[in-house]
Amino acid sequence: MENTCLFCRIVAGEIPATVVHRTETTLAFRDIDPKAPTHVLVIPVAHHADVLSLAADPSAAADVLAAAAAVAEQEGLTGGFRLIFNTGPHGGQEVFHVHAHVVGGAPLGPMLAAR
Ligand code: AMP
Ligand code: ZN
Repeated sequence: MENTCLFCRIVAGEIPATVVHRTETTLAFRDIDPKAPTHVLVIPVAHHADVLSLAADPSAAADVLAAAAAVAEQEGLTGGFRLIFNTGPHGGQEVFHVHAHVVGGAPLGPMLAAR
């Protein structure tokens, strides 16, 4: 737990979130500013700053992936969805506790906005 980390504070229950899925090692909650009809963030309970750090912990990485799949099923995303890890400045990462965005519920359009 990092006291200054927003998502560690959500794990600790210090900041409210709409939790939709929970395991011993992961937590999934609705994004506060949804970009699609379904927009859920899946995080490891243990603090990892970004996906590079998560990748160095294969067990936690597998748990996050499995939780994302469970969320997609639970949310009824039968038409498909996107799983996004924004990473670093070029990726536009804003919260430095790794999170997988599960977005779907409608056609999502092109993968990236045109430059
Ligand atoms: P990223 O740019 O990949 O770091 O995404 C951070 C995401 O966290 C954004 O989609 C925000 O809307 C979302 N977010 C920020 N604060 C909260 C919060 N307190 N509860 C839920 N989602 C949040
Ligand atoms: Zn954290």
